[in-house]
Amino acid sequence: MYPKSLEKVIENLTKLPGIGPKSAERIAHFILRMDDNELNDLIESIKNLRKKIKYCKICFNLTESEDICEICKNPLRDKSTILVVEEIKDLIRIETLGYYSGVYHVLGGHISTSGKIGINDLTINELEQRVKSGDIKEVIFALSPQWEGDMTKEYIKKILKKYNIKITSLARGISGSTYLEAIDDSSLLQALEDRKEEI
Ligand SMILES: [Zn+2]
Repeated sequence: MYPKSLEKVIENLTKLPGIGPKSAERIAHFILRMDDNELNDLIESIKNLRKKIKYCKICFNLTESEDICEICKNPLRDKSTILVVEEIKDLIRIETLGYYSGVYHVLGGHISTSGKIGINDLTINELEQRVKSGDIKEVIFALSPQWEGDMTKEYIKKILKKYNIKITSLARGISGSTYLEAIDDSSLLQALEDRKEEI
């Protein structure tokens, strides 16, 4: 229907998460009408994203141009407490509460039953290395409250059990949400404060 180059942009935009054909069409038309400066800004910022953003060597949070992220670098953060999350957006979610003062570990997802994400795709080894070599007192699990998150937690717990640390999990039952991002601030804060020791 459309000229080829416009079709191509629509096709590429539909590959983005949450963008259906209708939205892609709307965005493509918007891009077509953008002024040159705005468009260049957008293109440059996307290119820079790939060039400058890295994963933190310690916790796998995002970092700009450096090997270690702002949180791991911060001397005021309690390095003896590691909060384990699935995704970077979960870390951001907890960070926005402004309550947690320890450090994080981003797993990169949870073990999936469909086999799409296996144990080796997650940063479990790296977490074990941190617990092994560091002066870690507590590992807090803040994985998605559904059974794949639980399965991942149980697997990691078995690995970490041999180390002399406290293992806790966010309290449950406050919210029926399956994802951390959907839990409201006060419930999430409560879940963190009321975290339960794992046995
Ligand atoms: Zn870090």
